[in-house]
This record gives sequence, structure tokens and C-alpha cells, in this order.
Amino acid sequence: MSFNWSATFTIGQPADASKGDKIILPQAALESIIHAHSSAPLLPVQLDPNYDPTSWAQPQFNPYEPIKPQELPSPLTFQIRNPANRLLTHGGVKEFSAADGQVHLPPWMMTSLALTPGDQVMVKYAALPKGTWAKFRPLSADYMEILDFRALLEARLRSNYTTLTRGEVLKVHQGTKEFGFVVEELKPEPGEAVCITDTDLEVDIEPLDTEMGDATTQSASGTLDGQGSRRGGNNQDNVLKIGFESQGRVSPEAYQRWTVDIPNRKSGIEITVHVQEPGDLDMIVSTKLPISLQDHLWANFESVGPRVITIPAGDRDYATQQDSQVIHIAVYGREPTTVAASGSSSSTASSSAGESSSAGEATYSIQVHYQDNEEPSSAPPSGSSSMSAAADIPNKDAPGYQECTNCGSWIPERTMMLHSNFCHRNNAKCNKCGLVMKKEDLLNHFHCDHCDKHGDVSEKKKHMEIFHGWYQCSCESFESPSLPELAKHRRTTCSERFIMCRYCHTLVQQGGPASNARDRMRGLHSHESYCGDRTIQCQKCSQMVSLKDVQVHAQNHDYQRQSQATPQLCSNQNCVRSKGATSNVLGLCQLCFGPYWIPTEDPKNQKLVQRLARKYHAQLMTGCGNKWCRSQYCATSRGRQMDATSAATEMMSILKEARVGAADGHKTWLCVDEGTTRKKVMAELLLEDVRGQYTIEWCVKALEVERTDLEAAAQWLQLQAPKVKKAAA
Ligand SMILES: [Zn+2]
Ligand SMILES: [Zn+2]
Ligand SMILES: [Zn+2]
Ligand SMILES: [Zn+2]
Ligand SMILES: [Zn+2]
Ligand SMILES: [Zn+2]
Ligand SMILES: [Zn+2]
Ligand SMILES: [Zn+2]
Repeated sequence: MSFNWSATFTIGQPADASKGDKIILPQAALESIIHAHSSAPLLPVQLDPNYDPTSWAQPQFNPYEPIKPQELPSPLTFQIRNPANRLLTHGGVKEFSAADGQVHLPPWMMTSLALTPGDQVMVKYAALPKGTWAKFRPLSADYMEILDFRALLEARLRSNYTTLTRGEVLKVHQGTKEFGFVVEELKPEPGEAVCITDTDLEVDIEPLDTEMGDATTQSASGTLDGQGSRRGGNNQDNVLKIGFESQGRVSPEAYQRWTVDIPNRKSGIEITVHVQEPGDLDMIVSTKLPISLQDHLWANFESVGPRVITIPAGDRDYATQQDSQVIHIAVYGREPTTVAASGSSSSTASSSAGESSSAGEATYSIQVHYQDNEEPSSAPPSGSSSMSAAADIPNKDAPGYQECTNCGSWIPERTMMLHSNFCHRNNAKCNKCGLVMKKEDLLNHFHCDHCDKHGDVSEKKKHMEIFHGWYQCSCESFESPSLPELAKHRRTTCSERFIMCRYCHTLVQQGGPASNARDRMRGLHSHESYCGDRTIQCQKCSQMVSLKDVQVHAQNHDYQRQSQATPQLCSNQNCVRSKGATSNVLGLCQLCFGPYWIPTEDPKNQKLVQRLARKYHAQLMTGCGNKWCRSQYCATSRGRQMDATSAATEMMSILKEARVGAADGHKTWLCVDEGTTRKKVMAELLLEDVRGQYTIEWCVKALEVERTDLEAAAQWLQLQAPKVKKAAA
């Protein structure tokens, strides 16, 4: 059945749910939709191949989905059209809470329909086919900066969109950037608009044609390429070899990327970049892509001296890198600082800046080497300040030396006067950090008001920007003054962080914190929390078990299996029947015990023992006569008869083992019928097959269950029987 509903509304302020395609309608709209729906005529359900959502003509019947009477279609999907210019799109509904006569649209939708608050818009119920396939075209090659744009796009679609309309532009935010994708094609036909709720939409991304062709190929192979390389005219990651120095140059606000193969993770590494003054750059290091100022594991944001990053062998990210042995390094160019490098050298510094290479490019050398294992890895990166307070002062306490009260150096006593005069004239001590430096350097010496940082003023601008700026994550739930803190958030708790889901094994965004405490304790974010709620049927108990609980559930089965009581078998070593509920003084099964049942009084079991002795004696002397008998104590099975005396001697020794009247530990050897003999042989075969991992009792049980099918019985043992516990060594 189908129904028609449409209405005209005035555009209100944009809906704040700016990410998706859901609109806010007034309560009255819901009432009229319900009314239109319930009064619609019942029509046979059929497909209308001519349905054209671009046409404003009312369709005659719902072309796609059978709908139960009285039940509104879900999700409700609408065509949204600007009557002034015939622009249209589709969307779902977020809620029915707008003021009467008003509709709130997401900002992007207003832009794409060229609407502003106060304009009129037509909203019409449109039953859309379930989308199966969508092709997107990126609006710029920037999209390659996203590690897995397909996953990101799919995640955006799943969480925020109800519909897709051909030609609409989807904005995807990652980090501080925005990426646009045009909906190029849709299936099924005619592909003008589809509903994407509860569908397995296949997403295709069309590579950019033009000169971005090669860059796109790269993105397909998972390599990242940012502006840096494009500007540098180099699309490949530069390859660095451990122990070898390489040269690079990078423009301001651009990245140059390097990869280095580090197969040996038993040693730490040290990465050093020497920058040619006055160029400035940051060094960023990660085990995975994407790598950028906001996505990295290690960074050096110094602005003087060599940039050094030391990764000790014990670093968890470094030591446990799984998928590859490649370390990614990005060098990010910065505008050379305009403040003179320091004091006396200022004039030369600024003049050399004038001559330096094009547009503030920084030229540098880079190298990686393994740390010496003996050397403690605690040496802090250098480059903090001009004259560092050396740990071991030369000539300290040496005879004939004196300490200068001004600079703290140890000076030969005879030249102290000379030095002291010179020192007081030229050197000064910072009374905040105690560093001694040339007086003119002290003028350019700065201390950060917010942290311990101190150094040359030329470092101040970058320091303030990186550590005391303002950074907001694109997930919109994190902000920090510190770029390193943002990077830390993005690699840990950020809802946009990509993880390999432990339940669906796909690369997905982890989502926000799980909504229930139990999952949060497990360290699950919302994707895994949701994904792990899917159930599978337990093959042992046929219960539906959620993926999250599978492990515990299996352990439970294991525990139950291991704690099962072993079935008690008949004490007759040739018999494989179960002992049964009623016990007897010989521990035999009912069948085996039959001949030894004494109807009269037999207080000390004398009659019974006599009977058993006679039976053993006959068995040993002449045998049971059955050619298939396998009993160890039967003349037929042995193939030789015994004289009465030797038979009596042997009989006495096995008679003791019967432990007549004892509570347990009975062992008897009585000839049995052919069927039982065969079962016994099978059980022993199975025991051999499973290499003694299970006891003979369970082997017998398995064969009973599986009707003597050896293979099936072995499988049954694996699933059901407790394993023999290895005796503690
Ligand atoms: Zn001095
Ligand atoms: Zn200082
Ligand atoms: Zn600071
Ligand atoms: Zn975030
Ligand atoms: Zn998953
Ligand atoms: Zn189960
Ligand atoms: Zn028996
Ligand atoms: Zn026998």
C-alpha cells in the first residue's frame, strides 16, 4: 500500500545536526502523515520501474516496499524541493519538534537548495528504493590525506544519512579539514535517489582524472600523500636507509614524508634532522598512517638545534608494531622565524635569510640509526638553550682552580682577576633558570608564562602556537591548547580513530565511549560495543551468544566439560557396558553379574567367590570355546590349555583383584559375547586414535553416542569429553 503526503513549509533556523540529512518537521506534519497513510487505498504491491523522484507528479502507488497496514514506513524519507528554482534533494526526518508551519534543514541542504530562513520549501513523502551501490567523486585530491576515506565515508553515511541523491555533495570532516565528495551514480536504477538505512551499500570512489591520476593510484595502494610532496613535485614517500644520511627540502606548511625500514625492534632508534639556518621545521614520527601534525606518535617541535627523536626499544608502540616494519617520518616546514636568531649574529642571520632558497624552504639532512644498547636512552634531545649548564664542570675542585662567582666556571687562580673583569662585563645570569649567557643574549632570552619552556625569543612564537594555542578535534568532543595533546587524543580516545574491529575485522572508526559501563571496562568504544552485540549460535548448546561473550561462553563449556563425572564401566576388563545404578560386590554390570547372583544368604560372599573361582579355573584350563574371545585369561583366546594345578595358581592371583565386597577398585576378567568384544576392540582403537587424550570410559561413551563411527566419535570426544589432565611434572 502506498500513500501521498506533501506540504509546504517555511524555512526556520538551520538544524544543528549539520552532519547528516535529517530534517525537523512540526508535530502537525506527523499527524497529517499518519492520516494520509491510514486513509490510503490498499493496492497490490508492485514495482514501478518508471518512478522518477525528480518528477513532482504524485506516484499512483508505493512502488517499492510492501507495507503492513497501520504501520508507517521506516525510515520515512522525503523529497525536499525549492519551488523557486526546482532544486531538490532527499532526506530523512530527525524529529517532529518544529514550530507549526516550519521546517529546519541542515545547513548544507539549505546551501545546496539555495534556501535561506523565511523561504518556502516543499516536502513530500517519497518511498525510495534501498540503495545497493553508490559512486562518489572526490572534489579535490586532498581526500588522500584521509587514511581510509572509504571507511570514513561509509561511517559517515551509516551514522548520519538516510538518503542519497545524485549530484549532492557530501562533506566529510577529518581533523581540522573538510573533504567534499559528489554523489556521482546510484543503484538500483534509475539511480536518482536511494534510501541507505539498513542496507549494505557498496561504496565506490572514482579516482580524479586529470593530473591527479598518479596520486590517486597511490592512494589506492594505501599510501598517503599530502600537499608537501605535491608542492615538492614528488609523489612518492622518500625512502630512508638506517645508518645513511639523506637530504631533503620542504616548503612552509608542507610535509615531506619519509619511510624507513626498521626490522630489528630489539634496539631503539634515534632520528636526527639537521636544519640549515634559518629554516624551521617540525619532525613527526609514527608507526602508521595518516601522519600529520595532529596524527602522530612522536614529535619534535623545537625551533633551534638539531631535531632529535629517540625511541627506546621498550616503547610499546615501537616494540609491538604489527602490520609492517616501516616507520613513517614527516618533516613539516615552517616559515623561518622573523626574530633574529640571537644577539650578535642577528645581522648575518637576516641577511642570509634573504639569500636563502626559494620562499622560505628549509633544507635539511636526516638520518636514523639504531641506539647502542649499552647507552642509556635517557639523553634528552639537545637544542634547548645557548650555554647549557654542563653536568660535569671542567676542572671543578681541581687544585689551583677557583669558581667564578658570576658564571660558575672553574678558572686558574692566577687568571681569575682577568676573567672576573671580563666575565662581569660580558656575561649575565638569568635569575629564573640560572643559565649564564652573553649579556646581549639575555635580552633575547624568554621564559614561557605557562610552562617550563625557556630559550631564545625566536622560539617563542612557535612554542606558543604549538603548546598554548587552541586546537579542536573534528570529532567535536575534544579541544586543547596543545597540539601534542590533540595528537594524543586522536590516537587514543577520539571517536574518529580507526581501529581494526575485533568482532567484524574491518577497519572502522571506533566511535565514542561505549554507552554501558561493562563495555567501557572492557575498553570498547561504541563501534565494538555495538558490533560485539551481534549473536552467533553456539555449536555446542545451540544458544545464541553475542560475539562479546563468545569467549566466556566457550570457557564455560570447557569448564562444564572438564568437570563431568567419568562414566563408571563394568569391572570386567573385557566388558564395556556401564556399571549401572545398582551396585554389586564385584562392581560388575548387571549382565556380567547375572551368574554370580546368589539368591540365598551369603554373608561373607563365600558362595560368590567359589563361583567366580570355578569360572576362572575353567576359563584358564579349557577356555570359553568362542574363537573371537579376546580375554587375557581364557585358554581359547590364548590358544593353549592349562593343567588344573597351574590354572589354579593363576586363578588365585587374579581372584584377589576382584576385591570382593570392597567399595571400589574391582578388576575381573570374564569372557564376554561377540558384540561386547567388538565394542571393546573399537574403544581401544579410538583410545589409540586420540593418543590417550581421553580416557577409555569416554571413548566407550563416544562410540555409544556415535554408533561405532570412529571418526565421529573422535569429534564427539573433542566437543564433549573432558581431556585427561596432564599429571603435574
Ligand atoms: Zn665567569
Ligand atoms: Zn632563563
Ligand atoms: Zn609554554
Ligand atoms: Zn577527536
Ligand atoms: Zn565491528
Ligand atoms: Zn554454548
Ligand atoms: Zn559387564
Ligand atoms: Zn574366553
